[in-house]
Amino acid sequence: MRAVMDLGGTNIKTGVVIDGVLSKLGPIDTDAGAGIRNNLDKAARLIRTEYPGKIELMGIAMPGIVDIEKRTITSANAKYADAVGFDFQKWCHDEFGCPLVMDNDANAALIGEASKGCAKGEDNVVMMILGTGIGTAAIINGRPIRGKHFQAGILGGHFVADINGEACTCGGKGCLETIAGSRELQRSVSGIEGYSGSRLSESGQIGMKEIIDCMVQGDVFSRAAFEMVIDAYSAGITNLVHAYDPEVIVLSGGVMKGREHILPAIIRGVQERAWTPWGKLRFLVADDPDSSVLLGLQTLMEEWKDGS
Ligand SMILES: [Zn+2]
Repeated sequence: MRAVMDLGGTNIKTGVVIDGVLSKLGPIDTDAGAGIRNNLDKAARLIRTEYPGKIELMGIAMPGIVDIEKRTITSANAKYADAVGFDFQKWCHDEFGCPLVMDNDANAALIGEASKGCAKGEDNVVMMILGTGIGTAAIINGRPIRGKHFQAGILGGHFVADINGEACTCGGKGCLETIAGSRELQRSVSGIEGYSGSRLSESGQIGMKEIIDCMVQGDVFSRAAFEMVIDAYSAGITNLVHAYDPEVIVLSGGVMKGREHILPAIIRGVQERAWTPWGKLRFLVADDPDSSVLLGLQTLMEEWKDGS
């Protein structure tokens, strides 16, 4: 039996793999103030309670820059700040007595989609996960792009989208996330001229769902806000296309619940911008965004060899 953990900022998804079949557990809420160790322990307790047998291999994915060789976090977002320098391999050994496979969550999500999900069999594919933040990853010639410091491909949310833009949590300025990440939409949209007096301004909070709802009801401002966000997504995807030369784009994340409106707008936005003389990019949407990361960990464990 093998076990997997997807440590997200909001919740933690876990599961076990028995005879190649993933069974999901949870999710459980992330305890943001409790630190990495307590969150890992909580997830481990859930696995033990439901599946008391021996775990032979563990897979963990989380946000941040993951050194997949040392199984450490080089840089993390605020919720798991104390994960930097934490010895995940030792924790796993003490807790389960087994080796560990680790990856960044967006990398794992794309590996999951390209091996067992909507992009199965595709060798040249980039992913954009539209949620609280914006996650990206790239697989080219069948291999995940990793780079010298394990950060290639995963920083698409921090592509510069406005050289005079707002400060970002990463230390940069005008990153894509500061314009179109769900966390920042309230601020970025309410700054557009015409906001006050719009139907959208009466919504308690502003997310892509509220923008689409008001747009569908005929709110002119919300149409402009929708197009601003789509422009940002499309520019980010175009940057990924120009950087990595894929044939397929996989979209995922909570925002894609509005795919009926978002997908055709993104396709149009990217096709207007991307330089692809070889032909047309294909766009796919993850069938079950909640499973992509766990499936990717399952694939990484299948590829794992003792001693690696
Ligand atoms: Zn940034």
